[in-house]
Amino acid sequence: MARPVRFNIHPIQADAKDNISLVDMPEGYGGDGFFTAKLSDVVGLARKNSIWPMPFATSCCGIEFMATMASHYDLARFGAERLGFSPRQCDLLMVMGTIAKKMGPVVKQVYLQMAEPRWVMAVGACASSGGIFDTYSVLQGIDQVVPVDVYVPGCPPRPEAILDGFMRIQDLVGQESIRRRTSPQYKALLESYGIQ
Ligand code: SF4
Repeated sequence: MARPVRFNIHPIQADAKDNISLVDMPEGYGGDGFFTAKLSDVVGLARKNSIWPMPFATSCCGIEFMATMASHYDLARFGAERLGFSPRQCDLLMVMGTIAKKMGPVVKQVYLQMAEPRWVMAVGACASSGGIFDTYSVLQGIDQVVPVDVYVPGCPPRPEAILDGFMRIQDLVGQESIRRRTSPQYKALLESYGIQ
């Protein structure tokens, strides 16, 4: 006799009503049939919940990222299930792994091909600081070639740490003024990297 197939040996009764959480509304003023809020807050709310990551994985940290995308950790819960392998459609560059100095210009080129607004996350010790590879051939942190918004420590960081870094990125995205990218400070930051 065939044994019954059980797909989940610990079934949990899901209650969709309790398990679906809604995003917080931006601060504003509302009444019957209307709501006002800052444009930056509304744009930030949309952007932070629809980030398209561009994975740039060169070594072991990339494996942790695969786990982060898989069903157990499921980055898609944050509105970021659409990974892009074309920089032109992505707004979050996630650099994971050891970056050799020869690879530095490639990271920068990928960054340049991304449209504004764009953010960068250095995942793991190697991308953040060169990690254990204090050698002539390894870039001692990707912030030597592109500006970095969030650093995730660890060698490798666990998927929880990557998710935490992603949520820090979401905080930055949600709070960013829509005028920041045209500000003199941002232009000066890019110019310090030789980016016009
Ligand atoms: S930080 Fe550690 S795990 Fe990540 S790429 Fe470097 S050596 Fe590998």
